[in-house]
Amino acid sequence: MSAPATETATGRADSAAADRQLAPPWSLLMELSHRCPLRCPYCSNPETLVRRAAELTTADWLRVLDEAADLGIHHVHFSGGEPLVRDDLETLVERAAALGLYGNLITAGTLLDRGRLDALAGAGLDHVQISLQDTDAGSADLIAGLPGAFEAKLRAAALVREAGLPLTLNAVVHRRNIDRVAELIALAERLDAARIEIAHVQYYGWALRNIDALMPALDQVERAMAVVEEARVRLKGRLTIDAVVPDYYARRPKPCLGGWGRHGMMVTPSGRVLPCHAAESIPGLQFPHVTAKGLAEIWQSDSAFRRFRGTEWMEEPCRSCPAREVDFGGCRCQAMAIAGRAEATDPACALSPHHGWLRQRAERAASGGDRPYAYRNFAGTKGSA
Ligand code: SF4
Ligand code: SF4
Repeated sequence: MSAPATETATGRADSAAADRQLAPPWSLLMELSHRCPLRCPYCSNPETLVRRAAELTTADWLRVLDEAADLGIHHVHFSGGEPLVRDDLETLVERAAALGLYGNLITAGTLLDRGRLDALAGAGLDHVQISLQDTDAGSADLIAGLPGAFEAKLRAAALVREAGLPLTLNAVVHRRNIDRVAELIALAERLDAARIEIAHVQYYGWALRNIDALMPALDQVERAMAVVEEARVRLKGRLTIDAVVPDYYARRPKPCLGGWGRHGMMVTPSGRVLPCHAAESIPGLQFPHVTAKGLAEIWQSDSAFRRFRGTEWMEEPCRSCPAREVDFGGCRCQAMAIAGRAEATDPACALSPHHGWLRQRAERAASGGDRPYAYRNFAGTKGSA
């Protein structure tokens, strides 16, 4: 564990100036529950999942929505786990709509039936995003850890379009499905989606545990990116395709969430407020709770949100790099996981001393063959196939 760097007088001045210019966050991700009928081995939820008894109440979430609107947030994502396990979802969607917040439902789709969708649309839901495991039903269900999941998702996607709501598909790709990127894009066209996100697995938590079963080879990634480039040109104006080169094969990092504490906030099912999904993997940071502090106070002055905001916390080579306000040094959680220090340059950057190790680890993992998955589960360890 590395202690936070001591703030210098200059650093405090820079930080105060950055806080004065601080714009409100654009979006709020509300993880309503970690419960989910699926068991994806790359789930971005933490390895220690929040149980139902510890979830925030309806009144807590309604207050969070009120505070989000007061703070100037535009966009709220109702997510999980599976947000449809909460029977107060319609109440929350209705409050968000009344407050003028754009509401997006992020769902696995298997619990979405016509009655539920009509109620959500009637409550003012604006958009639905459905996750997709594969285009091959057997493979999709194996990845999801739930027989019948694929067919249920197709039905849910059709219902969303029949209800007149815009649809995004989120296809998480890895070694066992990345060779079907063309089929994933064709399925998005067939389902009349407006957007598909080709999202490479991010190797934290559950996914890191499954890295030897999931990591694609470089030539698979290159073929997939070529398919994406061709499809982007062919489908321009009809289907938006989001995809980036995965970190393990990149030469520069992505601006993770547009920079720590710059654009978004997320709230866990038990009420912890984080700048990103994996932030709790960084030791030494204390994240505030929505029942103890308001969102505005957290955004403006909480020490965990300010810790990696801006650029003055950076070390070399980031500190003097011309790209420091483009990528903000990449991902702090990946630096922690691989370099062992959250202040380090993201090892996805070729200028990081850990970059070579990252590439070698990817190549070793990619040669792992067909391995059983360690499925996401509340026990934290059991369940493979
Ligand atoms: S990644 Fe899979 S297991 Fe995790 S919340 Fe999404 S659908 Fe559920
Ligand atoms: S050195 Fe730091 S700021 Fe420069 S490209 Fe690499 S990660 Fe980005």
